[in-house]
Amino acid sequence: MKIIMLGAPGAGKGTQAQMIADKYNIPHISTGDIFRANIKNGTELGKKAKEYMDKGLLVPDELTVQLLLDRVANEDCKNGYVLDGFPRTIPQADVLDSELTKLGDKVDYAVNVDVPDENIVHRMSGRRACLKCGATYHIEHIPPKTEGICDKCGSELVLRDDDKPETVQNRLAVYHEQTQPLIEYYDKKNILKTVDGTKDMQEVFSDIVNILNA
Ligand code: ADP
Ligand code: AMP
Repeated sequence: MKIIMLGAPGAGKGTQAQMIADKYNIPHISTGDIFRANIKNGTELGKKAKEYMDKGLLVPDELTVQLLLDRVANEDCKNGYVLDGFPRTIPQADVLDSELTKLGDKVDYAVNVDVPDENIVHRMSGRRACLKCGATYHIEHIPPKTEGICDKCGSELVLRDDDKPETVQNRLAVYHEQTQPLIEYYDKKNILKTVDGTKDMQEVFSDIVNILNA
């Protein structure tokens, strides 16, 4: 099963993608996590990506598309995957579509986690991320068992640089301009499924499972 998560930054794509990955035993692939791991490790890619990410801009396709195609070509993706944060533009979606078509394959579902802009700044200012394993928490809604420490791997949790309110406004504007058109793109392909992302995390997940199991 190949699934794409759509939605504004902070809508809960990563949270739901990880739950889907655990339930269906497929990898959760987040281009944002891949970039953050590169930044943490001080790679050339990380240095270049950080310039864009810190401003709330998209990393250029030259640095993003091949990275994603290489990742989904890995052996662990042969039974499917859930993509979180890719595609983010129509050209990225076109490349993914044509690469899959060459293999006689396709995306099965594009799950749109719908959350209004008013909720997003609160979601993102309360987000705490583990840069080691990619797990995500919220200080009010989804707190870790021990404050500041990842439940899964014991590493320190951080407020992402790009979750500061001034950057969040840019990220939302970029989302509306460049990523939101993908909703219509996948609707035309008849694979769009929209869920109400303002519900509690378990309720959102159960709505998604009902769609995937239908
Ligand atoms: P995205 O991957 O779309 O950027 P995340 O999954 O990181 O979003 O979620 C953004 C923030 O909102 C995180 O702090 C996360 O813990 C929290 N969150 C996710 N889903 C919900 C939910 N259904 N209700 C409340 N908070 C949520
Ligand atoms: P995310 O973790 O998905 O919120 O992504 C964090 C940041 O990484 C984004 O604001 C972009 O700067 C960058 N990024 C992640 N995925 C992509 C992508 N598919 N295309 C371009 N930039 C991306």
